[in-house]
Amino acid sequence: MNTLDLINLGSNKLKKQKINTHRLDSEILLSNVLKKTREQLLVKLNQNIKKTQFLAFNNLINRRILKEPIAYIINEKEFWSKKFKVDKNTLIPRPETELLVENLIKIYKNKKISVLDVGTGSGCILVSLLSELPNSKGIGIDISKNAIKIAQKNAFLHNVQTRIKFLNKSIIYLFNCKFDLLVSNPPYIDKKNIKNLDDGIKKYEPLIALNGGNDGLDVIKKVIYKAKEILKINGKLALEIGNNQSLKVSKELKRNNFKIEQHIRDYKENTRCLISTLIK
Ligand code: GLN
Repeated sequence: MNTLDLINLGSNKLKKQKINTHRLDSEILLSNVLKKTREQLLVKLNQNIKKTQFLAFNNLINRRILKEPIAYIINEKEFWSKKFKVDKNTLIPRPETELLVENLIKIYKNKKISVLDVGTGSGCILVSLLSELPNSKGIGIDISKNAIKIAQKNAFLHNVQTRIKFLNKSIIYLFNCKFDLLVSNPPYIDKKNIKNLDDGIKKYEPLIALNGGNDGLDVIKKVIYKAKEILKINGKLALEIGNNQSLKVSKELKRNNFKIEQHIRDYKENTRCLISTLIK
């Protein structure tokens, strides 16, 4: 059996389970087993496969059949053109979140700022920001100790570890510090809607990274309220939010002395991020 046969075999198994990305997934999983990039794999499709490799591949295909996301199977996800370590303790970074990073980099290019990332997870937002803002530094916090461990690895991997500190704590326990920017992709799914999420999300991604409580706004409100205390005047609060939360979150921001600067829409035209400034 060679590489091509095995890709076909895996792809057919996944196709039978109605997994749309069956071919791509099969290629990625085989690359992972053979420790090659997908490109290296595809230029040499006639390579012979050892029994152990066949068994390892089969095992990964079976995990995928159960709807486990590829990112967790290979412990890696690309974000902002960088490879981030992920595991079951961290949310898988989403392309929508890159919009937040992109817009913040436009605002702060060549500036020297201090950033706080609330609910840093894999650290994808903070690590990406600091890799583009070489004069800036930041703190990432998360209530999950295991997520912090992954975030730390990612900071090292992308060589920003000297400018980042990760802390295992909730935003409510942050005192005596002032930031230029507070960024957060908080849990924002309405607890009533968790049951409607895709199996791959519901069964595998950490619930605490998703569940935003009542209306999905519990954590967002907490962050806005505390942001007033730990942002400098004219500091910015950049939040990722859920579908249909824009109006309610905007009201909450205004009530807490924030001026909305930017609504960022995602690829489906939903307002996905709000950037605001603390005015007094
Ligand atoms: N900040 C991380 C991300 O954007 C984790 C977010 C979260 O766990 N809610 O992917």
